[in-house]
Amino acid sequence: MSDQPSTSAVNRPSTPAQAWAELQAGNERFISGSPLHPNQSVEHRGELASGQKPFATFFGCSDSRVAAEVIFDQGLGDLFVVRTAGHVLGPTALGSLEFGASVLEIPLIVVLGHDSCGAVKAAMAAMESGEMPSGYLRDLVERVTPSVVASYRRGEERADAVEAEHVRQTVGLIQERSRALAERIDAGQMTIVGLTYALSEGRAGLVNHIGDIGQ
Ligand SMILES: [Zn+2]
Repeated sequence: MSDQPSTSAVNRPSTPAQAWAELQAGNERFISGSPLHPNQSVEHRGELASGQKPFATFFGCSDSRVAAEVIFDQGLGDLFVVRTAGHVLGPTALGSLEFGASVLEIPLIVVLGHDSCGAVKAAMAAMESGEMPSGYLRDLVERVTPSVVASYRRGEERADAVEAEHVRQTVGLIQERSRALAERIDAGQMTIVGLTYALSEGRAGLVNHIGDIGQ
């Protein structure tokens, strides 16, 4: 029916370092234009109906150009994905991350920011003009602003520096806010990795990490 490769449950990454290695390999395939498009066959879809065992949780920006399964060359059942504009954290996003760790026993959380991020741009514009957007857009900007402030205080006012700082702050906030996740990190069961994705090149570069990534 299909020659698409399928990752069996036996080969599933089960440690943070294995999960990180698999994601790096997938991103390299995507960058070089040789994706395998794994786990997208009709057979695999049927097998998954009885349960899921994703190996990485993503908390990324909603930007349409930053789709985790595509960028990391993964398929159905591989990634547990939570997205908000500017990857701003709130109680329900944290609850989803805790679900991935506690219920699905996923060993890795990836925070995925990117260049030319509209949410970061909006927060930088609000900082410079002193004018906040209306409606719930204000909530987004308010949650990115601490990252803008931290970056500006260091004299780093370029958008890419602010984007990296926002990833770093989001990684730190997840650990700080969620006791359940912090305990898993302390026990060596889980790692949080922060990445920024370059839209044109396709590369997801490491910003920071809390916990072991095996390198
Ligand atoms: Zn964005």
